Amino acid sequence: MKPFGAGPRILIVEDEPSIVDTIQFPLETDGCITESCGTGGEALSLLAKDRFDLVVLDVGLPDMTGFEVCRRIRTTSNVPILFLTARSEEIDRVVGLEIGGDDYVSKPFRPRELSARIRAILRRASIEPAPLNLTVPTDSASSGLAGSRHSEAEAEARERSTERALSIDQQRKVVLYFGERLTLSRYEFRLLEILAGAPGRVYSRSQLMEAAWEEPEASMERTVDAHIKSLRSKLRQVRPEIDAIRTHRGFGYSLFEEL
Ligand code: CA
Repeated sequence: MKPFGAGPRILIVEDEPSIVDTIQFPLETDGCITESCGTGGEALSLLAKDRFDLVVLDVGLPDMTGFEVCRRIRTTSNVPILFLTARSEEIDRVVGLEIGGDDYVSKPFRPRELSARIRAILRRASIEPAPLNLTVPTDSASSGLAGSRHSEAEAEARERSTERALSIDQQRKVVLYFGERLTLSRYEFRLLEILAGAPGRVYSRSQLMEAAWEEPEASMERTVDAHIKSLRSKLRQVRPEIDAIRTHRGFGYSLFEEL
C-alpha cells in the first residue's frame, strides 16, 4: 500500500525525552518512520510542511495544551491523533465533544500497548480515503466526520429522513437526528451505527467494543463509556427530553426503539 516499502510516518509530540525514546523504539522496530518535537508550535509547523500518517500527542506541552494543538490540526487535517494523557480526568475531554482525538493512552503505559493502538488506528486509516476535502467514502470504512464537505449528502439524507427521527447514511457517514446533522467522531459513529442496526437490542460493553474496535483487547470498556457519554450528549443537545441511548446496568447500552 505504501510506495517503496516506506513505513507509516509518525509524529511524536512530547516534551519528555525519556518518553519519546520509549515510544520511538518500538515504532521504529515495527518499521515506522518517526519524527519528534517537544512543543505544540513545532508540531503545527512540521504538520504544515510534511505529511504524517499519525500523530502521538501529549496533553501537557510547555507552550499550549495538546487539546489546543489537536483543535488547530483539525481545522485542516483528519490525520489520526492518539493522545498521551497523564491524568485520568483528561480522558473524558480527550474523547469528549470538542477535541476530536482518535484514541488515548494513559501514562504510564506499556510500549506494547501503545504500538498495538497505533497499529489499529493505522489499519483503520489505511482503508479510508485519507485526505480531507476529497470524495466521500465509497464503502463502510470509517472516515473523518468533521467538515462541511458533506453538504450535498446531508441534503439528500435529510430528504430521505423526513419521516424518521434517526437516519444514518453509512456510505457518506452522515447522521441526521430530527433533521439535524450530528458531528460525530468515528467511534461515536460506529457505536451509533451498531446500536441502530437493531434498535431495542441490548449490547454489552464488550460486544460494542468487539464490534466497533478492531483490536478490542487493546481498548478498555471505559473507552466505550466515554464515547457513549459524548454521543449521548450530542443527541441530547438536539432533543434534551429524549433519552436516545439507554443504559442497562450490568449489561450495556441500547438505542431507544421509537426513533
Ligand atoms: Ca508533557
